[in-house]
Amino acid sequence: ANQIKRNTWVEQKVRTTLPSRDAFSHKGSHGRGLIIGGSRQMPGSVAMTALASLRAGSGLITIATVKEAISSIAQQCLEATFLPLASQEGVISERQQIDISTYDAIAIGMGMGRKKDTGLLTRKIVAKAKVPVLIDADGLYHISEELSVITNRKSPTILTPHFGEMAMLLDTTIQNVIAHPFSLAESFSRKHGVYLVLKGPNTIVSDPEGNQWVNTTGNAGLAKGGSGDVLSGILLAMIMQRQKMTEALSNGCFIHGKAADNLVVKKHSEQDLLATDVIKGLASVFRTFS
Ligand code: AMP
Ligand code: MG
Repeated sequence: ANQIKRNTWVEQKVRTTLPSRDAFSHKGSHGRGLIIGGSRQMPGSVAMTALASLRAGSGLITIATVKEAISSIAQQCLEATFLPLASQEGVISERQQIDISTYDAIAIGMGMGRKKDTGLLTRKIVAKAKVPVLIDADGLYHISEELSVITNRKSPTILTPHFGEMAMLLDTTIQNVIAHPFSLAESFSRKHGVYLVLKGPNTIVSDPEGNQWVNTTGNAGLAKGGSGDVLSGILLAMIMQRQKMTEALSNGCFIHGKAADNLVVKKHSEQDLLATDVIKGLASVFRTFS
């Protein structure tokens, strides 16, 4: 409880660090983001990440996903462009080249499943990318098989595990993560040189130097499928707006939780809140900071 109080990322911090939109900016100034993930079974994940990222200010978003999922995703997300990927039994297969050289940041892992070939491609991309890479969901599973892939990276790496995924990365129990979230997050960030967003009711952001910030916005309405996909999209947008990385990540967590908080006060309840409502609710938060 003391650690939460001491390191809380408060609204005033957001107010002073969130970049405003320059009147003379163009879409290129707000970042070209690439989202890699999705599968025949989970096409909604990358759609939510993309929509959330655009609603959080990204300039351009491209979704790289299995070709058979694209027409349904495109109906949900008219503003995105697509990179159709070869698939194998409905998931992204290894046998292809993806040109990742023209993007400012990459988010990878949402809804991609845990097939071995998808893992091979994921690790290849993470190892090769020269821009910030955010790894979430099944992407975390794939890199947990070979953590040296992230340790060897030269550009920033951001991992966004919930407690279960953190336990998998550390090869320990969830009970252990729940008992020592701060110390385990700190040592993992230092050891692997990564930014860690350990998600929960109080999300902890750790940087490679061991600094930590805690988010206290959000409510149990977020304990529902899709919430993490939305957060990844918001974080991708924040990462591309050229803030300091820890500020970008803390601001993203604050805004995600705050949107959910505003929604359960006004339009919704913790019971009925959906991840897609949170995307629409971003307006109420950004308006208070402009
Ligand atoms: P995921 O488990 O990947 O879908 O991510 C869930 C998201 O919702 C994270 O951003 C969590 O911080 C947030 N979340 C889940 N449960 C709660 C809760 N009870 N209170 C506040 N935030 C939550
Ligand atoms: Mg998740």
